Amino acid sequence: MSKVKLLRAAWVFPVTAPPLKDGAVLLVGDRIARVDRYESLQRIAPARVERWEFPDSILLPGLVNPHTHLENTHFAQVVRRPQPFGRWLRQMVQQVRQQSFEHALAAARDGVQQLLRYGVTTVGEFSRLGASFQALQESGLRGVVFKEFICLSNEELPERLRELSDWVQQTKAFVGNLRLGVGPHAPYTVTPLGFRQVLALAAEQGLPVCTHAAESPAERALVEHRKGIWRWWLGKVLREAPKGLSPIRYLDWLGALREGTLLVHCVQVDENDIALLSQRPVWVAHCPRSNANLQVGTMPLVALKHAGVRVCLATDGLASVDSLSPLDELRFARVAHTDANNLVLTPEQWLRMITIDAAAALGLDKEVGSLEPNKFADLALFTVSSNEKEPLEALLFQATEASLTMIGSRIVWQQR
Ligand SMILES: [Zn+2]
Repeated sequence: MSKVKLLRAAWVFPVTAPPLKDGAVLLVGDRIARVDRYESLQRIAPARVERWEFPDSILLPGLVNPHTHLENTHFAQVVRRPQPFGRWLRQMVQQVRQQSFEHALAAARDGVQQLLRYGVTTVGEFSRLGASFQALQESGLRGVVFKEFICLSNEELPERLRELSDWVQQTKAFVGNLRLGVGPHAPYTVTPLGFRQVLALAAEQGLPVCTHAAESPAERALVEHRKGIWRWWLGKVLREAPKGLSPIRYLDWLGALREGTLLVHCVQVDENDIALLSQRPVWVAHCPRSNANLQVGTMPLVALKHAGVRVCLATDGLASVDSLSPLDELRFARVAHTDANNLVLTPEQWLRMITIDAAAALGLDKEVGSLEPNKFADLALFTVSSNEKEPLEALLFQATEASLTMIGSRIVWQQR
């Protein structure tokens, strides 16, 4: 097989540069060498180049889904939604307790197939058992696997920390296209001491951190006032935490709002939280379909973006949404965030939220997330008529399944 390929499409969207009508991408080995109009590239392409033509397609960088729970893929059939978050969480706890590694692995493998079908080539995965690490590793997908960490009391902390640190040590030799990260689950499921120790481990080992934050009113009531429906169930977790801090301010008190931290949700945030987030070097992953299904409220996305908070889009896991498609998520978000004052985001901004911004949220924007020379040849093609006057709108409104997905120049999904 030729190591040099020239891909031509009706439209090429590099994301970090203007779109190219009748564009092309020259691939050498597993990297992108050039991105330009077909006319220009065909003149400089070597004679023995392999040429692929996609006349009714839009060619994009592979999509990035920065927050998934692939081990939950099969919970789609057993965990009810929509339903209030508190009830959903209790149902999830029951399912999770019964789940074996083998079941989680089978579920994660199915989740991986969905991601590839939707044009996703990079993922931020929250892994409870480590099974999704194995499934992702087999698939060649890129991304960060955040190992979930839950610690409801300081008595269990030494054991939980040992498990986490052993997993990091044992897994780091097998990463392939993946990177390791740590995932302290949420402010209400990890004690303050546990949270600080996980942050210290991450700093020591240079690992990124992901946590769920400010997702539901119940979380805010518990963290800030020790009140609400979780008071008796989870109140003891926060025995040593100061009262009166919102979840975001509490995470700041812990030292968690630092470079390399990805916060998932941030729905229940007030003006002070937004101002604080805008001053911290963190990223926020917004999962609007999950928020709607779990009835936790609507994130003030436009206010966050206007304040300069770095926000990208993610689907979350299949226990709380219907698909792992970033384009499905984007379509839902555009409707959910249609602002009466017309402070809406442009199609280009939306596209960035599932490509380069999501890659940056995972610390991978130097390698993926846009079509640029020297980045990995991770690509997704979607069918759009070549006569389309507004191809980006057509993509954002209609497309779901990719016609072709490539990782490092290798085809990993092709529509039949
Ligand atoms: Zn999540």
